[in-house]
Amino acid sequence: MTTLVVGHKNPDTDSVCAAIALCDLKKKLGEDIAPVVQGELNPESKFVLEKFSVAAPDVVTSYAGKDLYLVDHSDLAQSPDDLGEANILGIVDHHKLGDVTTSQPLECWIWPVGCTCTIVASMYKYFDVEIPKELAGIMLCAILSDTVIFKSATCTDTDKKVCANLSEICEENDLETLGIEMFKVKSAVEGTPIRELVLRDYKDFNMGGKGVGVGQLELVDLSIVDGIKADLEKDIKTLKEEKGHHSVFLMLTDIMKEGTELLIASDDESVVEKAFGSAPADGKVWLDKIMSRKKQIVPDLEKVFG
Ligand code: MG
Ligand code: MG
Ligand code: MG
Repeated sequence: MTTLVVGHKNPDTDSVCAAIALCDLKKKLGEDIAPVVQGELNPESKFVLEKFSVAAPDVVTSYAGKDLYLVDHSDLAQSPDDLGEANILGIVDHHKLGDVTTSQPLECWIWPVGCTCTIVASMYKYFDVEIPKELAGIMLCAILSDTVIFKSATCTDTDKKVCANLSEICEENDLETLGIEMFKVKSAVEGTPIRELVLRDYKDFNMGGKGVGVGQLELVDLSIVDGIKADLEKDIKTLKEEKGHHSVFLMLTDIMKEGTELLIASDDESVVEKAFGSAPADGKVWLDKIMSRKKQIVPDLEKVFG
């Protein structure tokens, strides 16, 4: 039986590229293994795979009875719904340890770095396997994406070192230009349904027994969403009702100004001021220097929700 490697729901470039690269490595180490995704690729991920001529993984939504590696998450809310009926062989991730557990010992690579692909690239080194040029390219892009071109608070020296090595292998030397090119694709909102934008990079969390959703749009300029902001605000309120959540937040992150406008749909807006020290006005608040959901939004919210 072929083992599957899968990233989180609403796959992002790291989830996709880490699954592809981990499979390449594990195949070379003798495993029968294939990368899959839980849903359609976003425009950024499509752009990255096309740029380096790498095939997109198949979409798989049912995992019962499968052997599985998880990448880029260890939270049940982001893993396949039938994960309980799958057999988890390992986890490669760079988030806080989630609530996924196993009945058997597992292979675990969880590092406090900016991107899962930083860990996968390091695994190639550990197992002394050469990284193929095209996979160096997609892993490089994943790291630039997750670390917002090294600007995010999640970026570490390890990420930068790994990128330097990957850029040599794939012969991409201008990382700033490559990163901006990618974020321009990511920023494109024209013609995309509002709900698709809200869910493009969206994660559900269980915070002290309450459902909390946090989406993020990383934009090269906040003005890109001026014309649709009211619709986004309306839609996160609808989504909150549909999910029965306490709160749904949408981070509109300006990667050049290095800050986030947080759109809020909540049963209790005061959680925002308690978490971030800034009072929202009119259902939103500007959070200067805040760019990382994982490091700067989720931990502070979790403290407030207790
Ligand atoms: Mg991710
Ligand atoms: Mg990641
Ligand atoms: Mg991200």
